[in-house]
Amino acid sequence: MDRIVAFLRRIEIHWWILFGMIAGLLWGLYLHEMHYEVLLEQARENVLGPEYTEEERIAEARAIRDELQRLFADTTGGAAAQGIAQIFLALLQMVVIPLVVASLVCGVTRMSDFGRLRRIGGRAAAWYVTTSFMAITVGLVLVNLIRPGQGVDVPIALDDVDVPDPAGAWEMMLSIIPPNVVEAAANFDLLPLIFFSLLFGIFALRVDDKHRETIYALFEAVFEVMMKMTLFVIALAPVGIAALIARLLATTGVDVLWGVAGYAATVAAALAVHFFVVLPLLLWILTRRNPYRVMHAMAATLVTAFSTASSAGTLGVTLEQTEHRVGVDNKVGGFVLPLGATVNMDGTALYECVAVLFVAQIYAAAHPEFALTFGVQLTIVILALMVSIGAAGIPHAGLVMMVIIFEAVGLPLELIALLWAVDRPLDMARTMVNVWSDTVGAVIIAHHEGAIDEEVLFAGQDTPADGAT
Ligand code: ASP
Repeated sequence: MDRIVAFLRRIEIHWWILFGMIAGLLWGLYLHEMHYEVLLEQARENVLGPEYTEEERIAEARAIRDELQRLFADTTGGAAAQGIAQIFLALLQMVVIPLVVASLVCGVTRMSDFGRLRRIGGRAAAWYVTTSFMAITVGLVLVNLIRPGQGVDVPIALDDVDVPDPAGAWEMMLSIIPPNVVEAAANFDLLPLIFFSLLFGIFALRVDDKHRETIYALFEAVFEVMMKMTLFVIALAPVGIAALIARLLATTGVDVLWGVAGYAATVAAALAVHFFVVLPLLLWILTRRNPYRVMHAMAATLVTAFSTASSAGTLGVTLEQTEHRVGVDNKVGGFVLPLGATVNMDGTALYECVAVLFVAQIYAAAHPEFALTFGVQLTIVILALMVSIGAAGIPHAGLVMMVIIFEAVGLPLELIALLWAVDRPLDMARTMVNVWSDTVGAVIIAHHEGAIDEEVLFAGQDTPADGAT
């Protein structure tokens, strides 16, 4: 018995997560097979009444999907998937706010000289913008080569779309300043919270040593406790992720991908190039470290990003693993990662660009007056970057923000409905790219600051995550 336990303890956390994903896949497909047909009919009737036309069904697609999810949560295996998935997501989110505040305050207060702070901030900003542009370029090249929208004949679903007014420069600036910090934290509004924490850290450097040391000791202690708590949440990830995948597949099945397969494949291929080639190459060129070793060390983080589709929700795991599995000093990681999770989204930028051009290709076929000129493509590139900076690190944020680009280039908003069907799997993939870019940026900056503990990266390879502290 002891031997079995010892053997199980030696299996690394990301293998457990992989088992969890496979279990979730089987669980979800089983639920789908058992209940889908009946529940879908039921959901349509609940939303539309017993007599409905095809147009009504398409127009109410979203309401039907929500209803379907609700009905699934009433089935036996579905209730467990829903319950466990929600508990896991809540635990992940629970650790984020205290971690962000503590890590930023510590990061800044510890960096007693402003020069260093400015240097790291400057490098981080340069990384965010450069890699997002590279990601967009990869997407742009592939979508122009593959042309997934050409020849696609899709019924236009008249889904109702929420249209947020594009924010002006003043509004954008205002949205960074939290009039009420507690409210920003309660609403999970990371950008204003980051702004406040940075200012708090900076002004903590301006007070007497006695006070500064107290602040530092306090926030460092909070940070350490939160890291331990995050490790506990990571240990639950295999089960949580199984439930998340099961919940997703139960309602969608795998067929959902076929309708817009060319588009989904183009986004997936472009994301894969950026994930496996561009970012690793940059890591290797700028640090001469083996990027795939870092990727392996961060496997649990990447899978968590994939299954939650939320960089903000994954942030606790990202912070814990970059420090304890890759050896990035918290002085750098604690500052660069929370900022990156909120503003650095390579995957989202790439996806915006491919999605808009895909829809534009379909639209242009029916409307010859709509030309995809260089100017239009340039507008799309710039807006894709802005949208990726502005999107929150939560599921579907990129899709919701897409409205801004559609309006700017004059595409009808109803066409966004085309993208909904496959958004979840693509969201999972782009979130993983977003988090990988944050991690690679943190490693590169830490490398140039001499802030990487070499031994951790090598030792971390065969230590289970819960033994990595
Ligand atoms: N879900 C993505 C993230 O959290 C944002 C997006 O929708 O593109 O990183």
